Amino acid sequence: PFDVLVVGGGPAGASAAIYAARKGIRTGIVAERFGGQVQDTLGIENFITTPYTEGPKLVANMEEHVREYNVDIMNSMRAKALHKKDVFELELENGAVLKSKTIVLSTGARWRNINVPGEAEFKNKGVAYCPHCDGPIFAGKDVAVVGGGNSGVEAAIDLAGIVKHVTVVEFLPELKADKVLQDRLFSLPNVTVITNARTSEIYGSDKVQGLKYVDRDTEEEKDIALSGVFIQIGLVPNTEWLDGTVERSKFGEIIVDNRGTTSIPGVFAAGDCTNSAYKQIIISMGSGATAALGAFDHLIRN
Ligand code: FAD
Repeated sequence: PFDVLVVGGGPAGASAAIYAARKGIRTGIVAERFGGQVQDTLGIENFITTPYTEGPKLVANMEEHVREYNVDIMNSMRAKALHKKDVFELELENGAVLKSKTIVLSTGARWRNINVPGEAEFKNKGVAYCPHCDGPIFAGKDVAVVGGGNSGVEAAIDLAGIVKHVTVVEFLPELKADKVLQDRLFSLPNVTVITNARTSEIYGSDKVQGLKYVDRDTEEEKDIALSGVFIQIGLVPNTEWLDGTVERSKFGEIIVDNRGTTSIPGVFAAGDCTNSAYKQIIISMGSGATAALGAFDHLIRN
């Protein structure tokens, strides 16, 4: 069996694999798609030491770094179930079963899409999901935030400090964010809130030029001219396959402590699939290192 088997090949998994392999223990990494969300990212400006890079380039660097070590990389393989026997058994969709003494779960998350015309087409061309990442691109411009829950309102407050004007578009008749956040939002001069509005289209030419929504009271379609649309209707952890195993939050996030330990001894987790407060590349890499060191600690004690 492996000593450490990492499930997920994004920044958290790559970091965990490197930290484990550097201990001279048998390390494997299984990934549906090596690189994870970073594969889908255009510009990255907050990866410290690198003022600017691009997703596919960072993924190539990550892979090159992992390949410096004796890590068994199993790409294009999807984990289906985790079982605890005398060692852990990871069952893959292709029928294979991998055995390991410890497991690091790093299956990441995915942004929930609104699924309207233009969303996919203008991804990275005005359609964005991460205000920490892409907010500064829209400095001095008009943007919308779709979603009026906590993440949407936090994004709007954050963006209001950078961009010219923010329109929050919420489907329901009222915002769902905490009152303190709403109070802060409504105190800002450059924010407009539109409720009871169903976003119907994001349009543009080579870049986003506007957003259309339907007023759910009147069924009238309206149009806002803008340069950017931040979709903030939820980040879903890729943990459905773990039903009945590790403890998860009501959002499906794997609950970990400060060593990456989950509710099952020997199973660790890191990155966006966990209840970490913030979801970023650098944070995922840090927690991947933590989980691998936690796993190593577990191995030398058991
Ligand atoms: P992920 O990157 O989600 O990787 C998960 C891995 O697990 C993948 O390899 C996936 O294929 C695999 N996987 C999932 N399920 C299974 C399964 N069942 N079996 C096997 N493998 C599985 N962050 C920044 O810091 N700066 C930015 O500029 C930035 N821009 C972003 C732009 C976009 C468009 C997006 C979507 C995200 C952006 N982020 C950015 C966020 C950042 O990409 C994530 O925080 C980070 O990738 C999380 O790393 P992770 O390893 O936890 O998960």
